[in-house]
Amino acid sequence: MKRSFIREILEHTNSNTISFAGGLPDEKLFPLEGIRDCANSVLQSAKVLQYAKSSGLESLRELIAQSYTKRGFKTSPEEILITSGSQQALDVILRSIKSKNITVEAPSYLGAMNLFTLNGIKTEAVELKKNGIELNSFKQSVANTKLAYLIPDFQNPTGISYSQECRDMVAETIKKHNAILVEDAPYSELYFEKFIPSISSKIPNSSYHLGSFSKTLAPALRVGWIRASRELLKPLLAYKEVMDLHTNMLSQEIISCFLSKPKLYDEHLQSIRNSYKSKMEFFTQELDKKIPEFKYIKPKGGMFVYVKTDIDVYKLLDRAMQNGVVFVPGGEFYGDSENRSEIRFNYTNSTQEQISKGISLIANALQEL
Ligand code: PMP
Repeated sequence: MKRSFIREILEHTNSNTISFAGGLPDEKLFPLEGIRDCANSVLQSAKVLQYAKSSGLESLRELIAQSYTKRGFKTSPEEILITSGSQQALDVILRSIKSKNITVEAPSYLGAMNLFTLNGIKTEAVELKKNGIELNSFKQSVANTKLAYLIPDFQNPTGISYSQECRDMVAETIKKHNAILVEDAPYSELYFEKFIPSISSKIPNSSYHLGSFSKTLAPALRVGWIRASRELLKPLLAYKEVMDLHTNMLSQEIISCFLSKPKLYDEHLQSIRNSYKSKMEFFTQELDKKIPEFKYIKPKGGMFVYVKTDIDVYKLLDRAMQNGVVFVPGGEFYGDSENRSEIRFNYTNSTQEQISKGISLIANALQEL
């Protein structure tokens, strides 16, 4: 299996390199104090260090279920399975459903594509357009695969978010073909304008909705979840058990404590949205000013700006790396197809100074080419 090109790029960087490559959240926004207080509080009891249930901590399942219900997607704790990040959520699902083919967006999340390969699942790629997946090809593909993996909210890598019409049509297609949707939504809370209801909420019995605390609290906690009907969740438990018995209990207890404190999580989420929005605005202003030939769709949330250009971005990356700045060529997110003219930029893990300097260095690299 191919190694992640992103990880290889990161290995060629040093502490002076400006990186727009990794999909890292801003660690200055990690709620260190709140997490420390909760860690202290839950560690008063030895019980948190004991083996526990595979389905996850009951209080946390309850809190996650409540947050779905509050937003109009009625959910009970029995419809939540806690996983070790949403990466494991996807792995558990793929092992249990044993499909041979899956419809995916092109481009799509690399960690998912690698999982499909590992599980022997063939991907059918459908073009991702400005307002979501291209619907005619999507309908044809789902009629065949009966399974789709989509990232409708501020997608990784493109930052695109599906329009309401596109969401409705996807739900209708899944229903019509008796298919299953895996909706990966780790960025859904990072909206700059308003919360957008999930596709799964329209088809609760034929979907897995995947969530994660990696982008909202901290990725090192390794806690994510699956929201699905009891019928769909039941067979997953045996796989979850085999994989790691249960998700880290200390992390689950800390998150449950954090979420239980009035307003703390809501205020924290709002501060992340504000910060990422202003970083995105600054990043795109700098691009417009210094490299106007780069075209992009301004993201309405999430962590990425995706650029289309007509130069060879792999050659540009070589130059840029020598100048001390890195990014990921969009071709890495396309599976087999050859694409050398797109770039994913992460804007969340750099300061304004780094963004300004990094984009100047890329503009210089472009001149040198
Ligand atoms: N899905 C997508 C679309 C992602 O971008 C990521 C992380 N970059 C994941 C899943 C995995 O996240 P987690 O840390 O929750 O495993």
